[in-house]
Amino acid sequence: MRETILKKIVIASNDSCSYFDTFKEVSIEKLVRPNIQHLQAYSCARDEYKGKEAIFLDANENPYDNGYNRYPDPLQQELKAVLSQIKNVPTDQMILGNGSDELIDLIIRSFCEPAQDNMIVFSPGYAMYEVSAAINNIAVKKINLTADFLPDWQTMWQKVDEHTKIIFLCTPNNPTGKLIPLEQIEQVCRKFQGLVLVDEAYIDFTDEPSAIHLLERNKNVLVLQTLSKAWGMAGLRLGMCFSNPKVINILNAVKPPYNISSLTQSTVIELLQDYDGFKQKCLRLKSERQRLLTELSTLDLFETVYDSDANFILAITDKCREIYTYLIDQQIVVRLRDIPPVISGGIRITVGTEEENNDLLKALKNYTA
Ligand code: PMP
Repeated sequence: MRETILKKIVIASNDSCSYFDTFKEVSIEKLVRPNIQHLQAYSCARDEYKGKEAIFLDANENPYDNGYNRYPDPLQQELKAVLSQIKNVPTDQMILGNGSDELIDLIIRSFCEPAQDNMIVFSPGYAMYEVSAAINNIAVKKINLTADFLPDWQTMWQKVDEHTKIIFLCTPNNPTGKLIPLEQIEQVCRKFQGLVLVDEAYIDFTDEPSAIHLLERNKNVLVLQTLSKAWGMAGLRLGMCFSNPKVINILNAVKPPYNISSLTQSTVIELLQDYDGFKQKCLRLKSERQRLLTELSTLDLFETVYDSDANFILAITDKCREIYTYLIDQQIVVRLRDIPPVISGGIRITVGTEEENNDLLKALKNYTA
């Protein structure tokens, strides 16, 4: 089914007829940095040998087996095959990173020319986009979210210029928990002649469809996901980027060859087997999110407690610093998110276990100004 749709799109685009008539298809070759386009990627001798058993004298490893003496699979084929089943994305349309933070840097580094290109981010949003941009000397055009926490598309289109390479969209957004409707994202993909990076770190906490559904029709979309949140593997560091094979090939050439350790690869494969457990924990966290939302709203402390599609809740109070410090004294750590003008006096609270949430609510009920 999936392949049939893909084929149809390929045929249509090759014929340059009907399917893509309404918009100009993005050329990935034109977007990639010229030095990366011509990059001779690092190759290892093991790439050319496909068998499993052999005498490996090619990589200067230690021959004495302790379980970890060999370098890991640079393309993580076994792990990708498992993820492919779960995500319903072919393995040649994914790249894995040491957390999605590594992939954010990799994407910027591969496509944005330092001191020349720029990228669009929305504020408040995930701060690493700007940190990675600054490290790579890429200008950031920062646009405030609207009052209802959605991207201000009109201002965005005014700011986009010929050097804008990437539009970052975080959905559900950190720290607002707000989801961007998929149709709006697709409209951006079809209009923008650069890359649209959709960061879905929190997508498993929503019932809405993932932007993975846009991959077949939009060459310029990159979907970023992570095992750090709903899958509970933050300590292992495993991020995923799904895109079309051309983008993936470019990123594969730039990434460090052995960026995912063997220990991470094998442990993730093992933990991914428990799909039912994952689903159950997602449901539990979603129900705790609802309970927290209701209980926090009944407290007099907060002006607004925002509904969320993620595993955290944003609450607004003019006493945000006092409450933050008070909670620290109670050994409860939340995140201050005072980011005017869109969020003034925000506290972001991650949904914990039932007991943790009870302790938080108890502490907040005992708070006296
Ligand atoms: N994207 C968003 C929106 C995040 O909030 C985070 C982590 N807080 C990340 C990406 C990075 O996740 P990781 O590197 O653990 O995969």
